[in-house]
Amino acid sequence: MIAGILKEPSFETRVSLLPEAVAALRKKGITVLIESGAGVKASAADEDYERAGAEIKTAAEVVSSSDIILCIHKPATALLPGKVVIGVFQPLFNVSDMKSWAEQGLTVFSLDMLPRTTRAQSMDVLSSQANIAGYKAVLHAANIFPKYFPMFMTAAGSIAPAKLLILGAGVAGLQAIATGRRLGAVVEVFDTRPAVKEEVMSLGAKFIEVEGAADASKAGGYAVEQTEEFMQKQKQKIADSIAKADIVITTAQIPGKKAPILVTTSMIEAMKRGSVIIDIASATGGNTDLTKNNETIFHNGVAIVGNSALASSMPSDASKLYGKNVMNFMALITSKEGNLQLNWEDDLVKGSCITHDGKIVHERVTGA
Ligand code: NAD
Repeated sequence: MIAGILKEPSFETRVSLLPEAVAALRKKGITVLIESGAGVKASAADEDYERAGAEIKTAAEVVSSSDIILCIHKPATALLPGKVVIGVFQPLFNVSDMKSWAEQGLTVFSLDMLPRTTRAQSMDVLSSQANIAGYKAVLHAANIFPKYFPMFMTAAGSIAPAKLLILGAGVAGLQAIATGRRLGAVVEVFDTRPAVKEEVMSLGAKFIEVEGAADASKAGGYAVEQTEEFMQKQKQKIADSIAKADIVITTAQIPGKKAPILVTTSMIEAMKRGSVIIDIASATGGNTDLTKNNETIFHNGVAIVGNSALASSMPSDASKLYGKNVMNFMALITSKEGNLQLNWEDDLVKGSCITHDGKIVHERVTGA
């Protein structure tokens, strides 16, 4: 079998597989082709890939010769019928691309659609990349924030610790709590899933409960949309906390839907000048009234950073972990001899396959 790695679009710094993973594929007897320059921004040169046993090609050569094409974003190069493509395509938001790939006869796997089960954890690109986003969100905030994070008692006077408010304690939120605590901040947290309370507290943060959240126990670990009444109650409590916060990291998302607005303009106007909001839900609309995706704006002296691509600011480790996820997924869809083997009874194969046999085969995408 031949696997091909494509260079990502110019806005992306990551690559779907680093040389260390290429060597592991070669051991399985899989030939690896890589588009020239694909790994450069992730500190992996063509020569590193060659040393690991890959062949350097053009994009068109990679597409025409490979059985499986590995990428992160939608490839810029035209794909060919019969190819298997593995990436992160957000199919619920990009149904027309999925239709056109189905018509082109591609078998497309989108790793962001994997069920969030224990068996899927090693392939879970959302988790591996969200973990980085949570970490970098705090570091980015610390860089912009005009004060210290830790408490200091010095001869020149005392410094109070920064107050960090985290909205959404999923993978990114939990890492943001841990990183904020390591830097010495005092951390408060909101989430609609009461199940995260213990994890939040074990990281040394305060969990603020809002009664009456919709039951999300059947949503596979994800959040669900809340009633208007709950959202009002939650906004009131957030308003109390946000007025005291120095840094706010917002991460709240609902799969396939617009992100909920948790921070209103009037809440931002009640914040202290110099405060920072990092909104990592910006790609799906953001959690504040004022978020602009891929932009930093200032309102009344408060910086509002809309950035859902923070994993790309750490391209080496982000690519390493993404590649590890891809390798684990490849092991699921290939035989020991390195041939393609799709088991349609497997919930992970079924749950991540979007197009096959000329059709969209994923129920959530056909219904989107
Ligand atoms: P996410 O990115 O979809 O959402 C981030 C957080 O925002 C979630 O914790 C969610 O509850 C919260 N949120 C949504 N609406 C909110 C609101 N109105 N107010 C406050 N918070 C709100 O979540 P994620 O990081 O992808 O993880 C979601 C959950 O999935 C995890 O906590 C875990 O239970 C599960 N998970 C399972 C696996 C696995 O087993 N393979 C891997 C990762 C995550």
